[in-house]
Amino acid sequence: MQKPKKVKKSKVYGPCAYCGQPGTTKDHVPPQGMFAPGTPDRPWVPACEKCNHGASEHDQFMQRLSMVWGAERTHDGVAVGEKILRAMDYKEQRKFNRNLIRNLSVVNLWSPGGLIWLGQTFKLKIDGERLAKVLEKVIRGWFWKVTNRPVPAEYLVTTHLDGQGPTGQPFRENERHLLDFKPTVVGDGAFSIRWVFSPLDENISVWRMEFYRTVSYMGYTTKEVDGHQVFLEIKDPDPPDGPTS
Ligand SMILES: [Zn+2]
Repeated sequence: MQKPKKVKKSKVYGPCAYCGQPGTTKDHVPPQGMFAPGTPDRPWVPACEKCNHGASEHDQFMQRLSMVWGAERTHDGVAVGEKILRAMDYKEQRKFNRNLIRNLSVVNLWSPGGLIWLGQTFKLKIDGERLAKVLEKVIRGWFWKVTNRPVPAEYLVTTHLDGQGPTGQPFRENERHLLDFKPTVVGDGAFSIRWVFSPLDENISVWRMEFYRTVSYMGYTTKEVDGHQVFLEIKDPDPPDGPTS
């Protein structure tokens, strides 16, 4: 007689941070592969299996990237780097690093003026596309952590390397201003993140992610209005009133 099959009921951690379906997996944002084993409080969000797809490849990718990013400045970076080096011989390492660096050039889809959106999203070539996906997930995941809801479908998420985004004053200013906000830090600085939300639209936001205290990326959630992407400009606070005469 056959044993009755057990129906496997998977645990639901909460609604999927990306699509709102039941989240039966933990999706780490950023991928946990970039941290040393045992690093406490590695951030994660609930995700459905579909949205969590590719997580292990993202892990491996981030591990390897840690070597290119001068990750020796943090404990996590050192631990991850050593793990990879053990798994690769010297020739493999050289080839890997060459390919990675070559593939990380930025393809900018913004107009020269900087304010008009020309493409779907900013993209990096080849392996860089994976990095763009990882960064977008970090923004979407943290958006959920902060607001308890996914980024609504009509909003775009974009990321770019600090200082290499669209030209134009507001982008440079945003990069500078975000440093005034207190970051949330994981480990001894392997990952940190800061954010500001628009006071006028609760879904428009600016983010700054830093990896291994070395490489920073900006992230935006924006909305298209009349063919333009509306994004948050962080302004200097109004100067205090001077003495009246
Ligand atoms: Zn999902």
